[in-house]
Amino acid sequence: MDQRQPAGEGERIRRSRSRSAQGLGSAARSFSRSRSRSPVAAREPRDVARRYQLASLLAPTTAELVAEPRPLLTATAEPPPWFLYLPDQADQKYEEASAVAVNACAEDTKGQTCWICFDDGSEEGLVRGCACRGGAGFAHLSCLAKQAKILVAEALENNLFDQANERFNRWDTCGLCEQKYHGVVQHALGWACWKTYVGLPEADRVRVLAMNLLGNGLSAAKQHEDALSVREAEMSMLRRLGDSEGNILIMQGNLASSYRALGRLDEAISMRRDVYSGWLKLEGEESRKTLLAANNYASTLRQLERFKETKVLLRKMMPVARRVLGESHDLMLRMRWIYGKALYKDDAATLDDLREAVTTFEEIERIGRRVFGGAHPLVAGVEGALRQSRATLRGANANERHFPLGTQVS
Ligand SMILES: [Zn+2]
Ligand SMILES: [Zn+2]
Repeated sequence: MDQRQPAGEGERIRRSRSRSAQGLGSAARSFSRSRSRSPVAAREPRDVARRYQLASLLAPTTAELVAEPRPLLTATAEPPPWFLYLPDQADQKYEEASAVAVNACAEDTKGQTCWICFDDGSEEGLVRGCACRGGAGFAHLSCLAKQAKILVAEALENNLFDQANERFNRWDTCGLCEQKYHGVVQHALGWACWKTYVGLPEADRVRVLAMNLLGNGLSAAKQHEDALSVREAEMSMLRRLGDSEGNILIMQGNLASSYRALGRLDEAISMRRDVYSGWLKLEGEESRKTLLAANNYASTLRQLERFKETKVLLRKMMPVARRVLGESHDLMLRMRWIYGKALYKDDAATLDDLREAVTTFEEIERIGRRVFGGAHPLVAGVEGALRQSRATLRGANANERHFPLGTQVS
């Protein structure tokens, strides 16, 4: 089939199935092929460029992100993780992940119906892992996956590449509340997406996006070793294909998230610094990508207890985020969350710092609860920080009451 003509939905599914049926033999062949020659070499440059328009959508993870331009991964990098080339394994991983997600959502979804097919959860359980509340947003994972698959396929069939970019978001963003899925639901959809597109050629843009989504999903489920493997494989591929500076920065950011999650903070911090300065140079301070990179750089600085640098960076970037994104934006709230932590966790914090931290958390909690609902991880995290900062403030107030006298310096 001519790779420049996007496959029809049925065609793509049939091809995917026939590849699946080849099982391990096919996987082994793909594997050796990918090591012996670049799959891009055989294609026209125009074709490759167009295939990669979609890759600009590569999603950085929100909470964390950033990589050093050292030869992290090159054309001679280690082969990708085993599960990337095994469609059958992807099916099995999806089954496991979806069972975990349905189980985790069981309490929340009891007696509800799917908003896409209107059936209940008696056969296939329901999930909800976005910001929908009340009776909204319950769905079967298979319905969410089918919806995303059809939307992307329709756009590709009509050569609407920009729309396909946008529609691919349906794999990780709820169609009702327009917020990203999180946790185990995001993880299950990562596998659903990957198993849908794993049979496409390696350089196919949809497959590249699917790999990105899988990495983010694994990360959301705290499977950080696997997330790192997927992201290293993806970075290796992007470098081999000569992808854009922006996509390399996004990938470096996602790799840094994995390093951070695995406690490899030295690698994480230098990557995050480079990604932040990279975006600043490429798109300026008002770009969302720059703001996200600043947030993630600050987050790792804070984790390394480099409080002063954290505060300086956030004092510079929070007003920009407020202007560009608004007070209720997820990223704005996250920046303030990090700033609050840098205030109260610092041993040198003054009473004013502690009061400011408590006020900051109270505000974020209120806004977060309104925008995302009480079950959202951001709200739960801020509640914990609020409790701790209040306790620290109480302790500091008590100390001040008990030891108000000046001490003579001798
Ligand atoms: Zn359904
Ligand atoms: Zn929703």
